[in-house]
Amino acid sequence: TAFSDLGLAEWAIETCKELRMRKPTPVQTHCIPKILAGRDVLGIAQTGSGKTAAFALPILHRLAEDPYGVFALVITPTRELAFQLAEQFTALGSCLHLRCSVVVGGMDMITQAKALASRPHVVVATPGRIKVLLEDNPDIPKVFQRTQFLVLDEADRVLDVGFEDELRVVFQCLPKKRQTLLFSATMTDDLETLLELSANKAFFYEA
Ligand code: AMP
Repeated sequence: TAFSDLGLAEWAIETCKELRMRKPTPVQTHCIPKILAGRDVLGIAQTGSGKTAAFALPILHRLAEDPYGVFALVITPTRELAFQLAEQFTALGSCLHLRCSVVVGGMDMITQAKALASRPHVVVATPGRIKVLLEDNPDIPKVFQRTQFLVLDEADRVLDVGFEDELRVVFQCLPKKRQTLLFSATMTDDLETLLELSANKAFFYEA
């Protein structure tokens, strides 16, 4: 399989070439066409499997067609992962002039609220900080009124830490009609429960 077999736009295929991604990894081969087709996805995949590009590429493909408001919200357990995710989104979306904001603890909240109000294309956040911003500032939930994608990266770790309340707040602020993409290193019962919160039947991928 080649990147050109997956249904991605030409610019995305070119970007992969420039980033020396010669051919798609298994998680990319299986998940990219499903995400482009509008499916929810639950992917069991480890760090290093190429899972970030497996969701970032189809999100960016769709974003390029209709760049309105905050298009995707990505939740990840740690600040370090949030910055790594943002870096990959920015690299893969370079020819779209992608605007990506990182919203994590330990940084100035007013600056973050302002960044969100400017409606970046992609927001990468840790659960604690996005919850506070959504609850404390009445203008912030509006920013996510038309968000098309919710991604939970390392979802098992997000749930391990006990972020259910935070996730509930996030789910409530997003439109019902959206795609939910869960990526996790392990399959857990909590993930099944989470999946039930998203309205659509998910495509299940496990390596
Ligand atoms: P991840 O599993 O998302 O943390 O990605 C691990 C690393 O693999 C990242 O540095 C990516 O840039 C790289 N990568 C992702 N997809 C590919 C690919 N198809 N070919 C080569 N490298 C890739």
